Amino acid sequence: MNNSTTTHFIRKIIEDDIAQGRCPAGIHTRFPPEPNGYLHIGHAKAICLNFGMATEYQGKCNLRFDDTNPEKEDLKYVEAIQEDVRWLGFDWEDRLFFASDYFTRLFEFAVALIEQGKAYVDALSAEQMREYRGTLTEPGVDSPYRERPVAENLDLFRRMKAGEFADGELSLRAKIDMRAPNLNLRDPVIYRIRRTPHYRAGAAWCIYPMYDFTHCLSDALEHVTHSLCSLEFEDHRPLYDWFIDNLDTPARPRQYEFARLNLEYTVLSKRKLVELVEGGYVRGWDDPRMPTLSGLRRRGFTPHSLRTFCARIGLTKNDTWIDASMLEHAIRDELGVTAPRRMAVLRPLKVVIDNYPDDQEELLDAANHPQDPSMGTRQIPFGKVLYIEQDDFMEDAPRKFFRLAPGREVRLRYAYFITCNEVIKDAASGAVLELRCSYDPATRGGNAPDGRKVKGTLHWVSARHAQLAQARLYDRLFAVANPDQGKQDWKSCLNPASLEILDDCLIEPDLTQAAPEQRFQFERLGYFCADRQDWQPDHPVFNRIVTLRDSWAKMGKR
Ligand code: ATP
Ligand code: MG
Repeated sequence: MNNSTTTHFIRKIIEDDIAQGRCPAGIHTRFPPEPNGYLHIGHAKAICLNFGMATEYQGKCNLRFDDTNPEKEDLKYVEAIQEDVRWLGFDWEDRLFFASDYFTRLFEFAVALIEQGKAYVDALSAEQMREYRGTLTEPGVDSPYRERPVAENLDLFRRMKAGEFADGELSLRAKIDMRAPNLNLRDPVIYRIRRTPHYRAGAAWCIYPMYDFTHCLSDALEHVTHSLCSLEFEDHRPLYDWFIDNLDTPARPRQYEFARLNLEYTVLSKRKLVELVEGGYVRGWDDPRMPTLSGLRRRGFTPHSLRTFCARIGLTKNDTWIDASMLEHAIRDELGVTAPRRMAVLRPLKVVIDNYPDDQEELLDAANHPQDPSMGTRQIPFGKVLYIEQDDFMEDAPRKFFRLAPGREVRLRYAYFITCNEVIKDAASGAVLELRCSYDPATRGGNAPDGRKVKGTLHWVSARHAQLAQARLYDRLFAVANPDQGKQDWKSCLNPASLEILDDCLIEPDLTQAAPEQRFQFERLGYFCADRQDWQPDHPVFNRIVTLRDSWAKMGKR
């Protein structure tokens, strides 16, 4: 069906677990975003994996918001994330969860750790804590508060919850091992005081559980069997296991890590994407240059093309950089088959056919897809005055220029052969204003009965029938492949030419009927998508999704 069946190590783990009877109730995964920004293409990899494995093995996948940081989280992100996951084609059914709904249970888990003597209330400041923590080469030092009696810890923790202390004055720490080689096990903080209202829990809490504590216990509360996450959490797994092993949880999830997606010429970090949006470097989260799912959607990518991309990049444990063109391949492969063909001229040059009767017009048949007759045909109006693309004409053309030049003959797609007889120029600037041509009436439909051949076929529109439109052409958001890898400030690597807006495009009349998000191939120019926000019937706006690689290559352009 697609290449999602290429096997990978997570699939092997799951199959082995099923074969060994370790998941009697079926496998259960989750996608756990923090609602502090919009989803990007890296998240799509995690979504396709979590939902994909659940579907493939008749299991379940939850959508859970890991919302433990009241400072950065917002309901608008919760809504946008749900819309994006649904758009990508996945369904969490009735399993929409929020870690913030577990705050009471998490508090009880913390109390249980204290009662077992496995957590204590510390009064070290954040800075002191860092000093006591040691380094990779030096062991840490026990906090002077580490041996507080259980009863005192319980009392202090309850009073922390009751709001008796200031932010940062006390914290609750797991009592593990200050000399552990893995720094995550050196008595990590599990609760901190933050007098910040939470976007869902409101002012109910002034203490908040830390991410590591919340994440694994939320998985356990949801009976997740396979907790799939990116590699940076590998060092956190022993801590994850420590919490699960020391608490009476309803299930025993296992964490497995995979390499996150790194994509060239962009950044995949919500923190950085927030900066681009808030700093006005792009036109919002859904700017078509952004690697966000909403940006890719607005640009014209289909959910299917993004799923194909995720299947093709595979799943490994090694950090790799994926070439930006992989995404373009996925959408080209799809639209090459599915997108109807249309004609539009981005930078118009006027052509007058001198021997065509002044008030005559005619309708010519054009295939909606040259390789797929089932997509039918349409009729395009033709008349005495036409527009072609400016760069399809050259006055002093080299021999290999197979387009229009003085004295040369070309085919107008689905129409006639024309020959350029005269070039009209602006006297002052020398700019080419208009071409005077003649047509051969015997070549209607684009073939000469005498078998005469022409080298070039041009797209065109009829002046009287064409409609004005705006085209937005995109290039890579960054000018360098790895903007956040070098010494330079990553924002200084933005590509100043990433957006070009053309306001004088002309489109064939049929295109004015397009609906927002409808995709077309503009012959010889690329795949375009009617903008889902700005499209108006009397002001059509098209985003170029990708160029047509082959015709660009032929024209010697990028
Ligand atoms: P960001 O750095 O963009 O903020 P994050 O990991 O902090 O990413 P979360 O909302 O916590 O964002 O991510 C939700 C899930 O998506 C996590 O399980 C995370 O591992 C996964 N994820 C995030 N970025 C990528 C990526 N580039 N490739 C694959 N998975 C990713
Ligand atoms: Mg994260």
